[in-house]
Amino acid sequence: MVRTRFAPSPTGVLHLGSVRTALFCWLYARHHGGQFILRIEDTDRERSTPENVEAILEGMAWLGLTADEGPFYQTERYERYREVLDDWLDSGKAYYCYCTKEELDALREAQMAAGERVRYDGRWRDKTEPREGVDPVIRFKNPLEGEVIVDDAVRGRVVFQNEQLDDLIIARSDGSPTYNFSVIVDDYDMRITHVIRGDDHLNNTPRQMNMLAALGAEPPKYAHLPMILGPDGAKLSKRHGAVDIREYEEEGYLPEAMLNYLVRLGWSHGDQEIFSVEQMIELFDIKDVNHSASSFNPEKLLWINQQHMIAMPADRLGERLMPYLIKAGLEPADGPDPEHIAEGYHERADTLLHMAASARYCYEDFDVIDEKSAKKHLRPVILEPLIVARRRLAELEHWGQTAIHEAIVEVAADFDINMGKLGQPLRVAVTGGPVSPPIDVTLWLIGQERVLERLDNAIEIIEARAASANS
Ligand code: GLU
Repeated sequence: MVRTRFAPSPTGVLHLGSVRTALFCWLYARHHGGQFILRIEDTDRERSTPENVEAILEGMAWLGLTADEGPFYQTERYERYREVLDDWLDSGKAYYCYCTKEELDALREAQMAAGERVRYDGRWRDKTEPREGVDPVIRFKNPLEGEVIVDDAVRGRVVFQNEQLDDLIIARSDGSPTYNFSVIVDDYDMRITHVIRGDDHLNNTPRQMNMLAALGAEPPKYAHLPMILGPDGAKLSKRHGAVDIREYEEEGYLPEAMLNYLVRLGWSHGDQEIFSVEQMIELFDIKDVNHSASSFNPEKLLWINQQHMIAMPADRLGERLMPYLIKAGLEPADGPDPEHIAEGYHERADTLLHMAASARYCYEDFDVIDEKSAKKHLRPVILEPLIVARRRLAELEHWGQTAIHEAIVEVAADFDINMGKLGQPLRVAVTGGPVSPPIDVTLWLIGQERVLERLDNAIEIIEARAASANS
């Protein structure tokens, strides 16, 4: 059974790069009918915060990346790490190192001065006598010779020489386990079969494989994912979008669109760009992951988001829109069903936030009409057609799109003007601006009562303008 894990450290929030890793782990497990485990690697107690844990859990929940097991917290597993440490100390797989900071500094300086690679020289490897006054760290006895072969599912075969790896610290002087050590104990205990993570961890892999061997465990399969770069080719940073994933929720992106965008950062299936979550699960395979870095493109993310909004059934999109209307200060009960807004606006809004803002006039009256639009479209020539249109619209007993459409066509025909000549003034009058869905849809959404009031208002504006022009 395939078992993958996502193992974020809550020293930061969940950002695009970490979500992509989580997604690949999740998809791989789902594709193979396996299990996905969430593990919070919070052993760095100074930099891990409950707020970051919250950000991770909320982000994962928003994206629908559900875990079959966990979240497990490494800080709750100290006893288990202690057990392995004691066992390794007893069996000689690990040892206490009593070097002081000064000694290690001196070692580093000497190595640097001699042009050598900086590494721990193993001076406590075979000593058994404790040293007074120093709290020791525990180091793993890495094999001195031979090589470690990482058969990486993305990178291919990567070979490391043991002589290049020093005896790493597995427990700090306060007894707390370090990252590389707790990871292997957990990967082993949690029966992880596939470790999928960023390629910044590739250099940790031979050390982890050596430690897994010390536990008597078979190593999992590894897949190291290439980096995500910013649009400018530099490492993805806050400036580009390495921000809290929850900000994308705030900005009105659909979680399925985020996943779609992220799956394409490094993975492809022919030329296909748009994938539903089900399709991603069906098609995803680690062997199709690219080994070169991919770059983050915010415009493409917007485009994919809009494609998902268009593809989503209007009733569901309307439900998703609801919280954004409320957040925009609108009262959904004071206007059309959000489902209808979804239908009318999905072609013209690329986020839910944008959609809510564009539909504001359907729920709330505006204070002023955009000046440029008023000047251009609310002119005396259109006064009569608007008055007649207002009357026809007032007479409609059933406020439906077809009836509205017919009424406008008739008025345009009566005055021998084309639809656009009448439609645009109507639009400006009822929305306060020059853009909205087709005019019959717009009027329908706004509702009869509001439309009539707003037409009265526009008619007054034109009359006042005509009066002042004549005086
Ligand atoms: N906790 C590590 C990190 O956030 C991930 C460790 C791993 O995937 O092995 O970078």
